[in-house]
Amino acid sequence: MDSLLVKKFGGTSVGSVERIERVADRLKKSFEAGERFVVVSSAMSGETNRLVGLAHEVSSKARGGEAYDLLLASGEQVSISLLALALEKKGLRARPMLAFQLGIKTDSIYSKARIQNIETDQLHEMLKEGIIPIVAGFQGIDNFDRITTLGRGGSDTTAVALAAALKADACEIFTDVEGVFSADPRVEPKAKKIEQLNYEEMMEMASLGSKVLHFRCVEIAAKYQTPIHVRSTFSELEGTWIKKQENQMEAPVVSSVTHDPRITVLSAEPVPVGLGLLADLFEELSKEEVLVDIISQAQGSQGQRLAFSIADEDADRGIAILKKLFSSSVEITQVPEVAKISIVGVGMKSHPGVAARFFKVLKELNVDLKLVTTSDIKMSGVISREFIDDSVKALHAEFGLS
Ligand code: ADP
Ligand code: ASP
Ligand code: MG
Repeated sequence: MDSLLVKKFGGTSVGSVERIERVADRLKKSFEAGERFVVVSSAMSGETNRLVGLAHEVSSKARGGEAYDLLLASGEQVSISLLALALEKKGLRARPMLAFQLGIKTDSIYSKARIQNIETDQLHEMLKEGIIPIVAGFQGIDNFDRITTLGRGGSDTTAVALAAALKADACEIFTDVEGVFSADPRVEPKAKKIEQLNYEEMMEMASLGSKVLHFRCVEIAAKYQTPIHVRSTFSELEGTWIKKQENQMEAPVVSSVTHDPRITVLSAEPVPVGLGLLADLFEELSKEEVLVDIISQAQGSQGQRLAFSIADEDADRGIAILKKLFSSSVEITQVPEVAKISIVGVGMKSHPGVAARFFKVLKELNVDLKLVTTSDIKMSGVISREFIDDSVKALHAEFGLS
């Protein structure tokens, strides 16, 4: 059977009518060259932020919920329709489809919904008839017929989930950079494009904050062994392949430096000795869908000192839970203006001394490390946000990536 691809276009790629026309030209070329594909699009760049802003004008505390998710999902309705119109103008047959029309089923966790199932019959039919399906990214429909969204950046996840459901040969992620780089090229201009990454490395990078791919899309790709090709919308160059790699003879010790400015650290002290309260705390946080990242706990003279990092957007919820569970004698602090910096590489498994170099670089920049964590293929620290760009550059140089 012919090969099948899913092609996903990000916000910048469809950021204006002119760009949408360019995407349509590119798709036309692929179609005429005999490629079979399903298209997924994000909202036009800036649109989802604009919608979030409107919601916050009405209610500053508005967040995931029936009305909020319905509002946010509307951005993709515009871009897929414009793209379908552009393709039709160029003589192709295209059909824009929202998640509910296609059947992208999710759970009911608003703004963080997870895809449970995708109906593919209609897509196969359209492909057979030579119609190009243009699917709205980022959205789903729950069991109560309510619109959900998958979390910011979630169109990548729609695309990879579709590719997995269709058993496509690959999922192409078209974006505004030429691939996955050894650091965010906007912060470190010396960053280099990486030709290939395995799922494990990309999963670490994505979950550590590199926003080039939504982390859940990498999880799905790994589970279904779907190859991902991250590449530029604006050039024909080969990008970065994320797929299973065998026999990596000499994996680089560190393949990338990743940073995430969208985090918050909460601390509490003195917490009464024992694990009971901590168990209750983390249970409550998980019930409220607050994803806890790095945790540090130390015994002090008065009791325990607890600190943990979470996403910025969860800060208010985290503080509310701490206040609910801990008595007023426990001091709860939100450490302001922090960011996470990480190094990732499968070669770290077999090379000692990585931590020493990580600490040395930060020490030379006089950076104060607030939290730190490691696994066999990554090392992360939380530092003041003001040092993030310099730290990215210094670590990038230290590990020979420049
Ligand atoms: P899209 O709208 O196409 O989904 P995103 O803005 O979500 O695009 O992701 C692409 C951006 O990710 C790039 O513009 C770049 O600034 C950022 N980025 C962060 N880390 C990396 C990295 N390691 N490699 C490439 N891009 C990165
Ligand atoms: N439009 C959504 C967002 O801005 C989804 C995406 O771009 O992937 O988060
Ligand atoms: Mg994105």
